[in-house]
Amino acid sequence: MTYSSPTAHAPSRAAPTRTGRGSAVAEAVVDLGAIADNTELIAGATDAAVMAVVKADAFGHGMVPVARTALAHGASWLGVATTAEALALRDAGITAPLLSWLHGPDEDFRPAILADVELSVSSIGQLAGIAECAAELGATATVHLKVDTGLSRSGAAGADWPALVHSARRLEREGLVRVRAVWSHLISADEPGSGRTATQLHRFDDAVALAREAGLDPELRHLANSAAALDEPRTHYELVRPGIGLYGVEPVAGRTFGLRAALTLRARPVLVKRVPAGTGVSYGHDYATATDSNLALVPLGYADGVPRLASGCAEVRIRGRRHPVAGRVAMDQFVVDLGAHTADTQDEVVLIGPEREGGPAVTEWAEWARTLPHEIFTGIGSRVPRRYVDRRGADLPHGEEYLA
Ligand SMILES: *Cc1c(COP(=O)(O)O)cnc(C)c1O
Repeated sequence: MTYSSPTAHAPSRAAPTRTGRGSAVAEAVVDLGAIADNTELIAGATDAAVMAVVKADAFGHGMVPVARTALAHGASWLGVATTAEALALRDAGITAPLLSWLHGPDEDFRPAILADVELSVSSIGQLAGIAECAAELGATATVHLKVDTGLSRSGAAGADWPALVHSARRLEREGLVRVRAVWSHLISADEPGSGRTATQLHRFDDAVALAREAGLDPELRHLANSAAALDEPRTHYELVRPGIGLYGVEPVAGRTFGLRAALTLRARPVLVKRVPAGTGVSYGHDYATATDSNLALVPLGYADGVPRLASGCAEVRIRGRRHPVAGRVAMDQFVVDLGAHTADTQDEVVLIGPEREGGPAVTEWAEWARTLPHEIFTGIGSRVPRRYVDRRGADLPHGEEYLA
């Protein structure tokens, strides 16, 4: 199966082949087979329906191909942050139920309502804005009322919840909105057995009860992210919202559910040269070669998502071996110290790769850069073309078939 990505807008770096002028020097290869397997694994862990969270270009993996794959393998909903993301999915012809949850104060909700995008609501003001847009269209907006059960981000505070549900009920009677769901988001789902989750469940159940007392009849309740979908059945209700797990990152500390990494970030060296021992490398000369060494220049930098903070600890894989990133990562490039080993411009430099092939795993980059895999993935810049393969069942080292 082959998809072209809407995000692969990098004409100067078309998909690489081993030979040929005009071939790209860097790319992110996304294994949709892994997305498929991960979706199936998560769907198999719950009786609830699955909303695949594909915000932020599917965590950098490419929103439309990931959405299609997840929908074909056990997800029945899609979740995104913004209505712009939601409309991009609709423009691609995707008709599945779709929720967006982060809206501007003066947002024009009409395009989303017309496109049958369901909207999260955290306040009476937001609800009024949505109702006004629905009235102008002569339509009914479908909303998911969000209650803040402790995260203190979006969602109505407990004190504001009763007024919100009553207002929603009034607008339902007027035919302007339909409350399809009540939802919230967890604080510490990645910490198994956290007391916070129990507290949030209580608050959530109370909020749902208040909504029902106000005359609402929400068909769905949803609370669980990836970690909770895999590890906390009591949070599942009718719908779960996995994100990071779909992309193959194990979401619960100390647990392995069998998810599979989907993304490989790789490049070819654009220059390899020999330098003497004691040669300073990159800005500020933070690094010097310990011996006579071969240096490989890799054409990816922090503008492409290689974290500058990882300078001094990151490694990449070339010809099956790990080598250190030498000195500071620059905007467009970094240097690898190959020591006595060598490489040429036809070699593959793996920045992020499957662990079974030797990685480095995205979790290693997250440690090197003192962040989360989520931030590494979403940092992969728009200059890096995404290419889609399906390696399901395949246990291949990177070879020509892989290069497609
Ligand atoms: C990003 C997000 C998710 C997905 O969370 P993961 O931890 O990546 O599974 C779920 N729900 C909401 C509201 C989100 O913003």
